[in-house]
Amino acid sequence: MPADPIAIARNLLRCPSVTPAEGGALAYLQKVLAAEGFAIERVTFSEPGHPDVENLYARIGSGAPHLVFAGHTDVVPPGEPGKWTHPPFAGAIAGDVLYGRGAVDMKGAVACAIAASLDYLAAQGGKPKGSLSFLITGDEEGVAVNGTVKLLTWAAARGETFDHCLLGEPTNPHALSDMIKIGRRGSQNGTLIVTGTSGHVAYPALADNPVRGVVKLIAALLAEPLDAGSAHFDPSNLEFTSVDVGNATVNVIPAEAWARFNIRFNDCHTRESLRALIERRAGAAAAAGSVRWRIEWEPSNADVFVTQPGPFVDLVRAAVADITGRMPALSTSGGTSDARFIKDYCPVVEFGLVNATMHQIDERVATADLVALTALYRRVLVRYFG
Ligand SMILES: [Zn+2]
Repeated sequence: MPADPIAIARNLLRCPSVTPAEGGALAYLQKVLAAEGFAIERVTFSEPGHPDVENLYARIGSGAPHLVFAGHTDVVPPGEPGKWTHPPFAGAIAGDVLYGRGAVDMKGAVACAIAASLDYLAAQGGKPKGSLSFLITGDEEGVAVNGTVKLLTWAAARGETFDHCLLGEPTNPHALSDMIKIGRRGSQNGTLIVTGTSGHVAYPALADNPVRGVVKLIAALLAEPLDAGSAHFDPSNLEFTSVDVGNATVNVIPAEAWARFNIRFNDCHTRESLRALIERRAGAAAAAGSVRWRIEWEPSNADVFVTQPGPFVDLVRAAVADITGRMPALSTSGGTSDARFIKDYCPVVEFGLVNATMHQIDERVATADLVALTALYRRVLVRYFG
């Protein structure tokens, strides 16, 4: 009898694994995978100032090639449970739709990958022609310090090497065949700070209002595009998210003004070249207006990357077309994901469920999509191991 991705998904959805809680999700996966002969490692990582987080690594087979399926079982909080049509951790099915926090992001896809693997292994007499692994973290939706990044280092220290990775994040805007993600933009936060001299609003000549300066620099930074996009990326984008002076009064010119911003950048830039470009533009505008300024850059582990189209991307794309009859687009849109860590170890491609309801009240997935994604992942395994 084929493995049932809907039953596996329901069991996972019933685990209240809001980051950093394990919630029983990894224990359940361990039970299912161990029964099929996977060697399982449960690893807990710590970091001062952050809660400990549990992770799981499971492998079957010892030869090459080695395909790893990556994902996470942690979920974002459900919000007000009373606003859900069905409770967020019940695994309820109504009509042909499965409800629950994590249904699409991404317990549903983990369930499909497990079911596809069990079916594939059963057809192979229990062993893959090569090696098949699961790299599952409980710290993706949080700060991601005790998750995939450390799990990869841990695996490398044990001598584990991966040839290719499929990450099951929800990549499709509308239908299961929409898009494969082959890269992600980088992300950089910063704060532009303009220093002035405070004083009485009635005596502006005795003061230097930093609001004038911050407005000038904001205008200058928004005036020109950062680039025109590249072969696989849209143009980079800078968004100011907050502009403040922290002034509680109406008759005092403030001493300082600051503007927070985020940049989502493509492969026209490195983090360093991007920062230099922004500082050059701010500096030119500041010099023209005698503005005293500086930028404080926040540390970030979200670098831009792209998995160049080639045999592995083609293989996943063909598997999508085999099952859905539609060739998916190659995309680098959206936020960051753990692929940004995995790309340092092996080529990584992302394909999962429809993302329309992720992180929302009533997150849900069509049960037909779970069946189709299982068939699709199975197709990847058959094409990959030949
Ligand atoms: Zn996710």
